[in-house]
Amino acid sequence: MIYLDNNATTAMDPRVAAILSEAFSQGPANASSQHQIGRRARATLDSALDRIGRSLGSDLTRVDAARLVVTSGGTEANNLAITGLLPDDGESGNTKRNAERSTLLVSSIEHPSVLAAAESLQRTGHLVLQIHVDAHGVVRLDHLEHLIAESARLGKPAALASIMSANNETGVIQPVAEAAKICRRADVLLHVDATQSLGKIPIDLSRWGADAVTFTPHKYHGPAGVGFLWLAPETSVRASMHGGEQQLGTRPGTEPIALVIAAAAATEFAVQEQAAATVKMTRLRDHLETELKKRHPSLVIHGASVDRIASTTCLSLPGANRQTVLMALDLAGVACSSGSACSSGSSPPSHVLISMGAAKPLVDAALRFGVSKFSTDEEIVGAVELISRKLRACSRFAHVEN
Ligand code: PLP
Repeated sequence: MIYLDNNATTAMDPRVAAILSEAFSQGPANASSQHQIGRRARATLDSALDRIGRSLGSDLTRVDAARLVVTSGGTEANNLAITGLLPDDGESGNTKRNAERSTLLVSSIEHPSVLAAAESLQRTGHLVLQIHVDAHGVVRLDHLEHLIAESARLGKPAALASIMSANNETGVIQPVAEAAKICRRADVLLHVDATQSLGKIPIDLSRWGADAVTFTPHKYHGPAGVGFLWLAPETSVRASMHGGEQQLGTRPGTEPIALVIAAAAATEFAVQEQAAATVKMTRLRDHLETELKKRHPSLVIHGASVDRIASTTCLSLPGANRQTVLMALDLAGVACSSGSACSSGSSPPSHVLISMGAAKPLVDAALRFGVSKFSTDEEIVGAVELISRKLRACSRFAHVEN
């Protein structure tokens, strides 16, 4: 199988797998236990978290430092941010500065774990407004500013905005640092879903200016089952779950220390190797796009004229049906995804492409391919032939393609 679904998840780096296996074989480790073994586990956990923070430009060891909340993955971290950063019925979940505010602004291209969490808040009476993107899939900062002003005019000032740093379907990179400046000026918190960005673009958390950032190592050759919500200094979230006092009560439950140790290694490798990985992934992705475009001149590559993460291409051959091509490719030995990937089984039309204003035949035909730093030239050469053949066979306009 040629695996080109690296935005859904990645193969674990063998170096990380070895570290994980070693960590799992170390015996019991509950960082809340008071005995020596527990105290050692606490020190190991804290040191792994510090390494993650340091790799991403955030020193977690200072007094009043930023902190990392350990979650089960990107979905939980996003839910925690969306539901936990907003004040709830007057209770200040987070900041003094936001206590009077309750409106949530989310970009229209967010992952379902942000959009569905936002919908749940809407059902409990919060005003939720969507920030538009342009035809290339870039969040419109002028619309963010407009919504901040509009919500204030309605007497429901915005408390929180959520904008991802790179889109999981198109790979389009978003202007989060600029969005952070706008939000800061208006006293609005900013949550950034950076799930698709680690290992693909340089990340310096202390410079982005965000208040909370989501990521999970299974997207960059680390383990699944663990994720993180980075919180800027003085930012706190209201817990969604109830239980013990772990993680200052923010996210109760025994921390998965082995997974965090493996996540630390994966994060360090991803950051250290990001520049070289980007060069390689760009070459492979560009080869895939160029060769397919040569064979299918009507192919449309979404977001191609703006900055994208190097791993991702989202393309449509008008007349092809995405689900038919995906199944044909699966049988032929190429793994890719269609529509709002990440959710398995079903493939609703892409809300991302729809909000970019893509025509229906393009939405119906959209497929996403994601390479990784472990993809090979041979795989891409093989994939070009198979994808091209299946696109031709599955296209209603096959006869006009050369
Ligand atoms: N956010 C983005 C942008 C994603 O691509 C994904 C991927 O599935 C998630 C959040 C959810 O992460 P997880 O599958 O770890 O819950």
